[in-house]
Amino acid sequence: MPRRVQANPRDRVESGQMWRTTARPVDWPARVERVKKRDQSCRWIEAGELCRSTENLEVDHIGDPSDHDLANLRLLCRTHHRRRTGRQGAQAAAAARARKPRKRPAEPHPGLIA
Ligand SMILES: [Zn+2]
Repeated sequence: MPRRVQANPRDRVESGQMWRTTARPVDWPARVERVKKRDQSCRWIEAGELCRSTENLEVDHIGDPSDHDLANLRLLCRTHHRRRTGRQGAQAAAAARARKPRKRPAEPHPGLIA
């Protein structure tokens, strides 16, 4: 049976803060309206096809989460937005893990003669 890797709750908090606490500009609601008018439906592309869902639409940051330019925003349905932000969180967690080594450096084999 495959062993389940226990998620470290601290990692989750850190990765959540990486992108969730990004401040929204004061005119954020107006930007949301403009993106909705422009895109009208989910812009998620899978297997070369647009999702086009018009239900539960949310505004997604295509690139830099702190860049609220309309060119960096697009409309996604909740399903695809969740899938995407979940991926961003996983990337942030991986980056956080890479920054701090978890293990001490390996000790040389005791049988080795320097
Ligand atoms: Zn969608």
